[in-house]
Amino acid sequence: MELTKNRARSSFLPYAQQDIDEQDIKAVVDVLKSDWLTTGPKIEQFEREMADYCQARYAVAVATGTAALHTACYAAGIKPGDEVITSPMTFAASANCILYQGGKPVFADIDPTTYNIDPEQIERKITARTKAIIPVDYTGQPAELDRIKEIAQRHQLLVIEDAAHSLGAEFKGQKVGSMAELTTLSFHPAKHITCGEGGMVLTDNNQLYNKMKQFRTHGIIKGSASENCNQEPWLYHQQVLGYNYRMTDLQAALGLSQLKKIDSFISRRREIAARYNDTFSELDLVEIPAQLSGSNSSWHLYIIKLKLEKLKAGRKEIFNTLRQENLGVNVHFIPVYYHPYYQKLGYKKGLCPVAEDLYERLITLPLFPKMIEHDVDYVVDIVTAVLRENILVR
Ligand SMILES: *Cc1c(COP(=O)(O)O)cnc(C)c1O
Repeated sequence: MELTKNRARSSFLPYAQQDIDEQDIKAVVDVLKSDWLTTGPKIEQFEREMADYCQARYAVAVATGTAALHTACYAAGIKPGDEVITSPMTFAASANCILYQGGKPVFADIDPTTYNIDPEQIERKITARTKAIIPVDYTGQPAELDRIKEIAQRHQLLVIEDAAHSLGAEFKGQKVGSMAELTTLSFHPAKHITCGEGGMVLTDNNQLYNKMKQFRTHGIIKGSASENCNQEPWLYHQQVLGYNYRMTDLQAALGLSQLKKIDSFISRRREIAARYNDTFSELDLVEIPAQLSGSNSSWHLYIIKLKLEKLKAGRKEIFNTLRQENLGVNVHFIPVYYHPYYQKLGYKKGLCPVAEDLYERLITLPLFPKMIEHDVDYVVDIVTAVLRENILVR
């Protein structure tokens, strides 16, 4: 590629990367030297601090974001025959959690400007069997929680907000974690803060909270055998079928240390997104991600939507050219029902045309707090050069 040959990077710039410092390392090592590697004091502290940060009453730490979604579906009472409405433009876990409970994922198409689940499409998919809605805060911009909650209330449905992308984001002055009955987070290294792996469910509801604590540890409630404890102190009772979804104290200590830096992480993400917005809106060869008024994204991902009618190359060609330049571009996401497993369940292509169109044209650009100015310049320069080289001249 002529324009960029002289600037090529020798190292690959990934689309996401964790930011771990010496304090994080010390926090984990301190736990290793302590008495508790799991089920210890760091778990409760992490839950309390996360609940405070997200303005929720309760938090339940679990092993992964996927386990958080499963735990939330269990607490919501999803069972075989139930339908749950979710977005197709997400990671498979947002729908898999419904299948884990024997429920049926129903995909409602996305809004063409925000790319979040379209409340009108949700309403159209509601049947007598619908039990819950799982909106996904795609790329970090909260879904339209006010409209979604209004629909849910009218039809007596629970809302489980998949906030794997939106920790720290706000919608109309409310923090993510304070809006839905259940909100799930992920602490995968690509996300805002990391525990290696980890997840959490937030809620204000005491009953849901207790169900989730039981589900996370095999369905056992501590003290549930208390009537016999004096005579038979070894007793504990498994009341329901749960899982071992516990987070370790090593993970919680890392999460606590990372949480101290959340504000600077998010402001750096916003700074980079603003720079991309400025550059690419002027270029007019891609659509930049539209933000609803009143929504304050925490920018997990930055995606561009190619204006293919103005370009002579397709998405695949442009994507591969960017990869050759050592840019770790990606595509988030393949519509969930395109996956062979979902195709075998009977979902057909054509189900959600807006999501399918976005999928054909989107490219995820690198975005993470540790990116230095030189990295951001590189993304801006290379993407601009590659797009310009591919302008269609009629
Ligand atoms: C990352 C992610 C998850 C799952 O999180 P894990 O911690 O990887 O299990 C769920 N939903 C969305 C939208 C995600 O991006």
